Amino acid sequence: MVPVNQWIKIKAPATVANMVCGFDILGFAVNNPYDEMEMRFVQRAAGQASITIINIDDYNLPTDPEKNVAGAALLAMIEEYTANSIIDFSTIGFEVKINKLIKPGSGVGSSAASSAGAVVGANYLLGNPFSKDDLVRFAMNGEKVASGVKHADNIAPCIHGGVTLVRSIFPLEVIALPSPTLFVTIVHPQIEVRTADARSILKQNVQLKDAIKQWGNIAGLVAGLMKGDYDLIGRSLEDVIIEPVRSILIPGFDDLKKACKAVGALGGGISGSGPSIFFLSKEKETALAVEQEMKKLYEGLGLAHHTYVTNINQKGVEIEA
Ligand code: ADP
Repeated sequence: MVPVNQWIKIKAPATVANMVCGFDILGFAVNNPYDEMEMRFVQRAAGQASITIINIDDYNLPTDPEKNVAGAALLAMIEEYTANSIIDFSTIGFEVKINKLIKPGSGVGSSAASSAGAVVGANYLLGNPFSKDDLVRFAMNGEKVASGVKHADNIAPCIHGGVTLVRSIFPLEVIALPSPTLFVTIVHPQIEVRTADARSILKQNVQLKDAIKQWGNIAGLVAGLMKGDYDLIGRSLEDVIIEPVRSILIPGFDDLKKACKAVGALGGGISGSGPSIFFLSKEKETALAVEQEMKKLYEGLGLAHHTYVTNINQKGVEIEA
């Protein structure tokens, strides 16, 4: 266990969920952007809160541990630890400083980074008693606070790094997938897409012919990642179910997709529930050309935006003691 009062630093990466055909199941972590956090154990007197959240950015996120996703994830962890261990959480607590560099609501896993960062940090402070699957389970309580449902498609890659497949949530089964070198270009147009709206417009029924195409693509994408077959990855980055419905919420989506593919991107789509859009490329030069297309399109539409050119983060949340 790390001694009381000793701070550790945590780096929690952004993540892209709903990886094109892999809606709700496939996601990956990226090297940029990321959140910075610090955590330590503190002694606390009876009646004092077990978790203190200190926001050191300008987003005015809640500091109430039950309303901040980092607090909600930690509360789930404390509950399980207390039930099974000799540590008495009535005399110690966690202090958590959060510096959000991933804008909340941007669709690149801002809430997941805080939830995952908090539980990986707490696990380190406690001497690593929990497995990665345990940590994903705890962090899903943070996602419930952010979006109303426990989901793991951002949490899993944030904790494991790389590309992950959430084969099942209840019971939890996460499979970390290998991937070849891939460059990622992300654009965040500064518009608001409410997660609730992005969910509510989805159709509840799927045509069998579309389902067949989609599961062919998911299997093709997983096989392509495992074999390092870029052409197969590119062919499989196609979503015939969610994207046609959701993309209407994002101005310029169809034109951007054509332009990015024309300069050589393998494929891409909506990140999470938007508004961010991502494209994957085999070469860095292509990823930079994709960024130019993104800038050109959103400048043309007069929409403020932010772009990132990065690659897949293979480590997940990192601790610096
Ligand atoms: P993203 O897709 O980028 O993760 P979400 O919309 O899922 O964004 O989550 C952001 C929501 O979660 C916002 O309503 C925000 O107020 C809430 N929230 C609470 N605590 C945090 C936190 N520590 N980090 C990010 N968002 C948080």
